[in-house]
Amino acid sequence: MADLLDFNHREKPPSFADTVNGRIDAALVAENATRPQRDYLGSSRLGDICARRLQYEYLRVPRDPDGAFSGQSLRIFALGHVLEDLAIDWLRKAGFDLRTRNRQGEQFGFSVAGGRVQGHADGVILAGPDGFAGPALWECKSANAKNWREIAKHGVARAKPVYAAQIALYQAYLGLTEVPAVFTAVNKDTCEIWHERVPFDAALAQGTSDKAVNILRACDAGETLPRHTVDPEHFECRFCAWKVRCWE
Ligand code: SF4
Repeated sequence: MADLLDFNHREKPPSFADTVNGRIDAALVAENATRPQRDYLGSSRLGDICARRLQYEYLRVPRDPDGAFSGQSLRIFALGHVLEDLAIDWLRKAGFDLRTRNRQGEQFGFSVAGGRVQGHADGVILAGPDGFAGPALWECKSANAKNWREIAKHGVARAKPVYAAQIALYQAYLGLTEVPAVFTAVNKDTCEIWHERVPFDAALAQGTSDKAVNILRACDAGETLPRHTVDPEHFECRFCAWKVRCWE
């Protein structure tokens, strides 16, 4: 029996797709590892529900082994940048004078608390068709179909409080409070687009700024901020990059 053929127990070789995808993911992850880590609180994140998570981010606490950015996550980020560039082009073609750089050629942004809190805005609209008069903050996000529909149904403030906090803070620190911001959302699945005006919410800006101060104070004092929930199976925790560190 020893000389009978047996092809049934051979290891299945990786498919062409697995091989190529694996190489791409490895290259993206390696490239990402060369990028300097942020050493400030990013204003785009300050609306996050969990102050402890923001503290981990600011202190550059290592992510859990399975919490590192995957190749797929990095592709999703990259796609967001491409869609933002497209949205800029579409708005300009529609007649909006949308600037993404200031006179010095730098991205519109701000830095406060000795550089420990920073933010970089997607753009500023100076003028537009149908009597649109700026300057107005412009913020653009891409979303999957489900999230995009939520935004289009309820508006950004209700559907995505994290984005609303970011908008309010940018308006405050960039001095763009007089004219409502313009928010663009691109549906990644269908390429539908959503636009809305977002009036300045002073209370939200103040609350978000206070939150940043509290996080910095806790970091300086060596305090760990409370979790946002007592349930480790909370949706936000299940997908948190520090879940093991936080709960175990
Ligand atoms: S696991 Fe949950 S409570 Fe802990 S940092 Fe992450 S989101 Fe916050």
